[in-house]
Amino acid sequence: MGKEIQAAPATTRTGLLIILSSPSGAGKSTLARRLMAWDPSLSFSVSATTRTPRPGEVDGKDYRFLTEGAFKTLVAEDAMLEHAHVFGNFYGSPLAPVAEAIEAGRDVLFDIDWQGAQQIRNSALGHHTLSIFLLPPSIPELRRRLESRAQDGADVIAKRMQKSWDEISHWDGYDYVLINDDLDATEQRLKTVISAERERRVQQPGLRAHVRRLQTEFEEGQ
Ligand code: ADP
Ligand code: 5GP
Repeated sequence: MGKEIQAAPATTRTGLLIILSSPSGAGKSTLARRLMAWDPSLSFSVSATTRTPRPGEVDGKDYRFLTEGAFKTLVAEDAMLEHAHVFGNFYGSPLAPVAEAIEAGRDVLFDIDWQGAQQIRNSALGHHTLSIFLLPPSIPELRRRLESRAQDGADVIAKRMQKSWDEISHWDGYDYVLINDDLDATEQRLKTVISAERERRVQQPGLRAHVRRLQTEFEEGQ
């Protein structure tokens, strides 16, 4: 019998920072929830925000709901990977849980706007990002979804609709752009994109050691 093959170091990998952006109501949170159910090893980046909780939202799970003062302290302490002002409120991604997950080889999922996506792309972790933009099939359908969510008042919905073009106009800065028409089909396409991106060479630091070992075995066999 040949030498026993040890657990391949090639299986070690660096986590991906998976960014989902879209105009409000296009389906980010719904798809993020489905991705989390698909792969429990995914870690969701719980953003901090100064906006008030929607019915059913849980502090620490959906968001960390902070006062403006507490939010600004975190920014001043460099504890945010990125932060932005969206729809009159502050939002940001706390850095520590992201760094911890990435180092442990776990992917982190972000539901953030284009400003946050841009900041993460330009950060030290930029080469480990996978950015995906979701477009609605049409503007009337986007309005219908915002209204059907029935969690925001008419004034908030109007404000979000007004801002939707601002978000959509940044679609071409993303690696992948999916039109979220049929929800199940979009979910499948997202899973395909994520599965493929995990195989990127840059995500697999263990490959170098694996190839060196192949080379040794090859040379020993010659
Ligand atoms: P976002 O997080 O982008 O603001 P949500 O995930 O909250 O958007 O979705 C807004 C509403 O649209 C929700 O009621 C959700 O169930 C619905 N929705 C999401 N994707 C689809 C889809 N492909 N077809 C129909 N309804 C959808
Ligand atoms: P909502 O209030 O509907 O939960 O989110 C409003 C917008 O803020 C969405 O576009 C959402 O993606 C974005 N957002 C949520 N969390 C963050 C964050 O941590 N950083 C940034 N830049 N945007 C965020």
